[in-house]
Amino acid sequence: MTTTNHSHSASSARAATPSAPFGTDVTWTNWGGNQSATPAFTVRPRNEQEALDAVRFAIREGLPVRAVGSGHSSSPLVQTGGVLMDMSALSAITGTDLTGRRARALAGTTINAFGDPLWEQGLALGNQGDIDKQQIAGALATSTHGSGKNLGSFSSALRWVRLINGYGEIVEIGEGQLRELRAAQVALGTLGIFLEVELAVEDRYYLQEEITYPTWAETAATWQADIDGNRHYSFLWCPDDDSCELLDLPGSPGQSMANRSYTKRYNIAQVKDEREISRTEGARLDRSYRIYPGGFTTPFHELEYFVPSEHGLEAVQAVQDLIRTKHSDQKYPVEVRWVKADEGYMSQFQGRDTTVITLTTEPGTDYWPFFRDADAVLQEFEPRAHWGKIHFMTRSRLERLYPELDTFIQIRREFDPRGMFLNDHTRALVG
Ligand SMILES: Cc1cc2nc3c(=O)[nH]c(=O)nc-3n(C[C@H](O)[C@H](O)[C@H](O)COP(=O)(O)OP(=O)(O)OC[C@H]3O[C@@H](n4cnc5c(N)ncnc54)[C@H](O)[C@@H]3O)c2cc1C
Repeated sequence: MTTTNHSHSASSARAATPSAPFGTDVTWTNWGGNQSATPAFTVRPRNEQEALDAVRFAIREGLPVRAVGSGHSSSPLVQTGGVLMDMSALSAITGTDLTGRRARALAGTTINAFGDPLWEQGLALGNQGDIDKQQIAGALATSTHGSGKNLGSFSSALRWVRLINGYGEIVEIGEGQLRELRAAQVALGTLGIFLEVELAVEDRYYLQEEITYPTWAETAATWQADIDGNRHYSFLWCPDDDSCELLDLPGSPGQSMANRSYTKRYNIAQVKDEREISRTEGARLDRSYRIYPGGFTTPFHELEYFVPSEHGLEAVQAVQDLIRTKHSDQKYPVEVRWVKADEGYMSQFQGRDTTVITLTTEPGTDYWPFFRDADAVLQEFEPRAHWGKIHFMTRSRLERLYPELDTFIQIRREFDPRGMFLNDHTRALVG
């Protein structure tokens, strides 16, 4: 691995206030506009030393600390009245290893900043989600995922991390410390401040896109064949004619989209010459990282639940029935994806191959009755929830759904005995 060296000096413990640029009256608001906070200090470290100074300052002053990535989570993960660490300046690919298929990056590197530099080294991320604006540490903290039954989330690819713990020390967790690594893979920002991460990546690859618009009956009839037969398969079921437009997706020309799916299949394609690249809508052929992100630019609020994939079809039908019978005002498409089981203690995919069901709603409307009813109808499938989206998880639900919850909490306390990296939301879940 070719890497960049970092160093820090011990004298920073004596700094009076954070050495990084900071403000004391900065109100933070997330992308979706449903979460905000006015921390005592908002700090934007430009290097490891400044990040370390900020944490040591917080320890001395008895202030809690939370990090913020790109602010794309709609659950109350980021809020703090203490020190908010804006990690956006810590952004760079710091190393690649073609033989070992690894890439290192600073924690604030956005997913879209991996594309070109990795490609130039013959590498690519193994999978990506619907957008690529998140910072890598933010995506890891909530187990952000794409779709593909044999593909894990970003968190499942984490192999090493360098972080600041609750003692104000920089520590590293690698594959030699599997117990801790599985806690770090999905940590909700509660182990400490991630500075740099290493991910398992793949040889670079091209993807051929295929967009189709089957009826719901056709979607259900080819359910398993589509999941098994494509590297990436996902669909958005449309309850209404105008559903696609709500997510900036093209509908099917000349056909009603009501009770039809916008279906995405991506498969690996051989490209000898980049003049073969095609940007034709619905049939694009391009480098992998240019195919994944699309649409989803207008703010919305989401609830996303994860059910064992053997119950996927039944669970989607339960949600469709709910919309048809009780919430016919809900017009956004219902997105359905697949993710491979993994081992992160707090991963929503821990120990189970998963079907992901995403319900999208309009900011400013009263979507709570819909979300509460969806939560209720999905309970029989033992759903876990996306940590970065609206959810109704409680400690008692976690005790039932996450077999390694106690191990995670024990490790969290080892890294942060005073709980300085908790806020009210995470304290209730994993404090
Ligand atoms: C339009 C849109 C599309 C989306 N698409 C998908 C998708 O396809 N698949 C999917 O799974 N999710 C998706 N999401 C959800 C999103 O990926 C997650 O909410 C993700 O966590 C956001 O990353 P972020 O960088 O914005 O982090 P933030 O929301 O800013 O933070 C998330 C968590 O990460 C922690 N954190 C951030 N940086 C650090 C650090 N350096 N050290 C320690 N902790 C840190 C924060 O404290 C917080 O707990 C989408 C969200 C939106 C708004």
